[in-house]
Amino acid sequence: MIPAFDYLRGYEQIRDEMETAIHRVLASGHLILGPEGEALEREFAAYVGTNAAVGVGSGTDAIVIALRALSIGRGDEVITVAHTAAATVGAVRETGAIPRLVDIDDRSMLIDPRRIEAGLSPRTRAILPVHLYGRPADMQAIAAIAARRGLPVVEDCAQAHGARIAGRHVGTFGAIGCFSFYPTKNLGAAGDGGICVTDDLQLAERMRRLRFHGFDCDRVAQIEGLNSRLDEIQAAILRVKLRHLGAWLGARRRIAGQYLTLLAEAGVRLPETDPDAEHAWHLFVLRTDRRQHLLESLRQSGIGYGIHYPVPVHRMPAYGHLGYGPGSLPVTERAAQEVLSLPMFPELTPEEVQAVCRAVRRAFDQAGKT
Ligand SMILES: *Cc1c(COP(=O)(O)O)cnc(C)c1O
Repeated sequence: MIPAFDYLRGYEQIRDEMETAIHRVLASGHLILGPEGEALEREFAAYVGTNAAVGVGSGTDAIVIALRALSIGRGDEVITVAHTAAATVGAVRETGAIPRLVDIDDRSMLIDPRRIEAGLSPRTRAILPVHLYGRPADMQAIAAIAARRGLPVVEDCAQAHGARIAGRHVGTFGAIGCFSFYPTKNLGAAGDGGICVTDDLQLAERMRRLRFHGFDCDRVAQIEGLNSRLDEIQAAILRVKLRHLGAWLGARRRIAGQYLTLLAEAGVRLPETDPDAEHAWHLFVLRTDRRQHLLESLRQSGIGYGIHYPVPVHRMPAYGHLGYGPGSLPVTERAAQEVLSLPMFPELTPEEVQAVCRAVRRAFDQAGKT
């Protein structure tokens, strides 16, 4: 059996460091908003290269808090995609704003900058690109449109810790970058967590208040906020793991390179890489119009897989009220039928990657013969 993701293998590697960090917090008696969280904010901001970072309760909340810090709410429109985790669109709705969903580019499966203009309206207040699967969106084109219209960009970096464009980290191109620390992400906590990064110290201060009921330092609510704090145990664990992130990203690159080589002739569409951008390989997603056949074949071979995502957000019942009927985002809808994620986590061995590739090739050898 080769799983799609294996939390325990990562844990075994750093078990002592993690447990030392947890015990340090437990013995300190300081469990929420303390020195570990502050240190993580400094270290994560230094890692991505921003002036500030604000730890929050989840990646979803990071987007909610970022949008609210920019005074986006009821009646406003935010441009984003439907080919993403439901959380992206859910976070926009949480603020009361209306998601304006635009189609993706067929090659990158990311927001198509050429379609952003058509989604703009007098009520547009922000553009929210998603660096899905760890692949950086076309930030140069997006930033140019945003600058022309005077719109802020909020980046959904939940899957893209470590992704860079021309050496610069995603999350630093827009006004605010939003990361998730959900356990399966490239940098994962042992529970929920998230962080917002920004160069704007005033926005950072507003986000610090928003995450804690809108409180100033005297605990007087200056604005209406929510309760979304990153706790000290998660922060301490994340500080340990941040030190390993570079090595883990290297392992993801090695695995992706091996997949790209061994599957070059397998009869599936492989993810493309940009010469100028560093993919963070959160997921390795191939495409095939014979997905059902492939996944049954993988299942028989004992190989785990994922589908990210089987139902695009605009076709989920909860978002029917947004009014996007079948066929309204054709590139997104086709991608949802064809994508399949192969096992991807840093501890995957070269032999396991070979076994996965053998199973993929075998599936289509047989399909070709029958
Ligand atoms: C995981 C994820 C989120 C939400 O993060 P949580 O920490 O689970 O709330 C948002 N957007 C994308 C693209 C994600 O993958």
